[in-house]
Amino acid sequence: MYRTHDCGALRAEHIGDRVKVAGWVRFSRDHGGVLFFDLADSYGSTQLVFDPDAMTDGADVEALAKTLNSFGRESVIAVSGFVRERVQGTADPRNPTGQVEVLIENAILLNTSKPMPFEVADQKNSLLPGEDLRLRYRYLDLRRAQMIQNLRFRHSFIASARRFFDDEGFVEVETPLLTRSTPEGARDFIVPSRTMPGRFYALPQSPQLYKQMLMIGGIDKYYQIARCFRDEDSRADRQPEFTQIDLEMSFVDEKEVQATVERLLAHVWKTIYGTKLQIPFTRVPFQEAIAKYGTDAPDVRFGLEIVNVTSAVASASYDVFKKIIGKGGIVLCINLKSSLLSSSPSDSSSLGRKEVDRLIEWAKGEGMSGLTWMRLSQEGLSSNIVKYFPLEVRDALVKMMGAELGDLLLFIGGPKIQATKAAGALRVKLAKDLGLVNGKGHGFVWVVDCPLVTKDAVSGRLEPFHHPFVMPSKGRVGADEDPASIGGLSYDLVLDGFEIGSGSIRIHDPELQREVFGMLGMTDGEIERKFGFFLEALGYGAPPHGGIALGVDRLVSILLGCDSIREVIAFPKNKRFQSLLDDSPAEVEESKLSELQLLSLAEGEDEAKAKKKRR
Ligand code: ASP
Repeated sequence: MYRTHDCGALRAEHIGDRVKVAGWVRFSRDHGGVLFFDLADSYGSTQLVFDPDAMTDGADVEALAKTLNSFGRESVIAVSGFVRERVQGTADPRNPTGQVEVLIENAILLNTSKPMPFEVADQKNSLLPGEDLRLRYRYLDLRRAQMIQNLRFRHSFIASARRFFDDEGFVEVETPLLTRSTPEGARDFIVPSRTMPGRFYALPQSPQLYKQMLMIGGIDKYYQIARCFRDEDSRADRQPEFTQIDLEMSFVDEKEVQATVERLLAHVWKTIYGTKLQIPFTRVPFQEAIAKYGTDAPDVRFGLEIVNVTSAVASASYDVFKKIIGKGGIVLCINLKSSLLSSSPSDSSSLGRKEVDRLIEWAKGEGMSGLTWMRLSQEGLSSNIVKYFPLEVRDALVKMMGAELGDLLLFIGGPKIQATKAAGALRVKLAKDLGLVNGKGHGFVWVVDCPLVTKDAVSGRLEPFHHPFVMPSKGRVGADEDPASIGGLSYDLVLDGFEIGSGSIRIHDPELQREVFGMLGMTDGEIERKFGFFLEALGYGAPPHGGIALGVDRLVSILLGCDSIREVIAFPKNKRFQSLLDDSPAEVEESKLSELQLLSLAEGEDEAKAKKKRR
């Protein structure tokens, strides 16, 4: 037996016990022949001491000293000995095992370690080695208590979710990873077939079509902790493979799916935090979210709501606004209430000129022409430009914004989309700078009634807002309707300003599904080729159904307050979607390519191109 206790287990109650412990030698020091070791594993660390004077008669002190002196940093060792109280004044109150130490009687070296590329210690983030180095040696990075804590938390989250689903009668089903393309708005990772040369599988962007076919199969409550793959241009804090809690239910409406997710999260909350999560969550229609918060993923933990004041300021002679409105743009306003400022930890009771100037600079950096401000003082609204605003305009602004003495009104103007985005970013920046979310806990919100499709700004093509399987809110798509005005029975779950889940009621009528594909510009041939099998399945009595998928990596990283989802994934890719640990993606031998007939395919293509040229 290597160990009777792990390295985080020993307490005062064990004093006098004979124990065995095993782990990694994290630190060692020699105090004049008395040797100390910090022995660590994923549970904690225990102090070991070799004291030649305390050895029992007959023990081979010299041989033991020799063995102990051979232990290098991160050597793997096993030790047996007695638990004793630490010498007075040397107890470590920060370490749960810090009251005791193990007096070494015997020790063996189980394995050595090469010199470490970095020290395994719980540094503050700023002192950690560079992320590339951490990812290159991820197995060593995982020895850090913070990483262990993150992975354990993630495990508890998923374990608790599984318990919930089981209690509610859901069935966990594994859907295939080698599939046909499932569109979720990204590129597919494709896998060549060896047995059917020239044919390819796609790794699933999500289990969407399979979970819908499970509903047709009568599995009316499905869930899966599903791995999904999306080949996107590397974007900050995305991973090409990620995990979703994926679920689907039959004979439900959108409120029932949402309520299930709320119960799920309340259950998880109770298990991991021991507290009651406030449910149901607030619901905000998509358009309202954009108007009030400047984004479809709003952080609702603080006010600072955006108000469109275009009509109120249209009659002012202020040139900047006049030009913007003249070109069809809008003017948006946020009231930074003085009560928020005085209660904020950044303590200033008002935002001074300097801070406002800094905000103006920031707005310019965001591509805005600037930022205009007015403060409500005893004399009414004041600022260097207030003279361009007639009294009745000022009164209207005070009323619209609910301004009180000391409040600061911040205006952003510009083309609709840019101004909205910038005002949304301003809200978030103000909240961050002023610490408005500190101590506020977490804020869940449902964003509902999203559009069914969007128009690509460049190509003008219609694209699904989520995916093409969302039920139109009226249950049909009228041929005479502007597609952009059609709503979908969809709902996104947002946490602290991040979208963490997205779901919908699905189309279960094959004809309607065909129409939606057509609306998205697909030809009949294309529909048949890509989705014929699915339309066929819908035709065999598909029940009304809906579901959702929650992004585990994002959710867990927000709850842990991590800067990046990579902190909650054991073996993530870096920002360029490379695995530095095994150096993938990697080249493969030509023989493998020719086995898959990929070389001949490529050659065939080259030949075809050359032929075309010759003609
Ligand atoms: N398949 C969707 C996604 O991955 C989620 C859903 O609609 O259930 O975002």
